[in-house]
Amino acid sequence: MNLEQLLEAFPHPVGPLRILVVDDQPVNIRVLYEVFRGEFEVLMATSGEQALTVCQEQRPDIILLDVVMPGISGHEVCRRLKANPDTRDIPIIFVTSQREEAEEARGFEMGAVDFITKPVNPVIVSARVRTHLALKLQSDLLRSIAMIDGLTKVANRRKFDEALAISWRACLREGRPLSLVLLDLDCFKQYNDRYGHQQGDNCLIAVAGALGHGLRRPHDLLARYGGEEFVCILPGTDVQGAMQRAEVMRKAVRALELEHQHSTAGLLVSISLGIATLIPDNDFSPESLLAAADKQLYRAKQEGRDRVCAIELA
Ligand SMILES: [Mg+2]
Repeated sequence: MNLEQLLEAFPHPVGPLRILVVDDQPVNIRVLYEVFRGEFEVLMATSGEQALTVCQEQRPDIILLDVVMPGISGHEVCRRLKANPDTRDIPIIFVTSQREEAEEARGFEMGAVDFITKPVNPVIVSARVRTHLALKLQSDLLRSIAMIDGLTKVANRRKFDEALAISWRACLREGRPLSLVLLDLDCFKQYNDRYGHQQGDNCLIAVAGALGHGLRRPHDLLARYGGEEFVCILPGTDVQGAMQRAEVMRKAVRALELEHQHSTAGLLVSISLGIATLIPDNDFSPESLLAAADKQLYRAKQEGRDRVCAIELA
């Protein structure tokens, strides 16, 4: 797909695409600004230092980077951006005055995707930028698809593992509580036996939608853990807060009023939830938090299902 087709099929989430133009000569920036201003948001930097700051703060979608600059050179800017997980996926196109093969090879080794020679030809620079933006959008899209559960469209297990590790480190650093809510549908095997797998899938989709009501904060995450099991990561939420959210989720699922004649918890589809909360430290691991939540989920089942059980670890 070319850039137009991609943007039409998958609108970019945060407004227009952003291109960062870096050059120590403002006149060179001006030329590129004129090429791109109608189409993209053009960010500018006149030094390597400034370029690094803009990248950290604004995350451009692509960078046109001058090689020869006083202070931090283009090559060094490239090296630092590629060394940082937050910025390493931003495509970099070097813009150079003399085209020397050795220099070009070095740039590719450092992770640049392309080269353009000055003085720039507007048609060529525009075509190259559009090609690399299209590739970037496609790889972003692939990465996000790889993290989504195909049936319910919530995060998948892989995304959950990644997010749990990130939340664990953040809460460890900040001394804040981390809550996990593990839940599953009550008597789901009997549901599938009674209503069929197609209806079972529809039920999972509806439940996943209802569970979203329990999420409040930007770093909260709902994932399908497997089969009829889901899990929520609630960073910065203590055990009381997690119990409130779990109760919201439990009620939201009941409120769907999906018939389940073969459930021992009543005649409607319901969920059981287990919560474990702790302030991460080096005596515990993310796995031990998950195991504790699983134990609480088991307890909720034992005590009659359609309920929340919680534990605070310390
Ligand atoms: Mg220069």
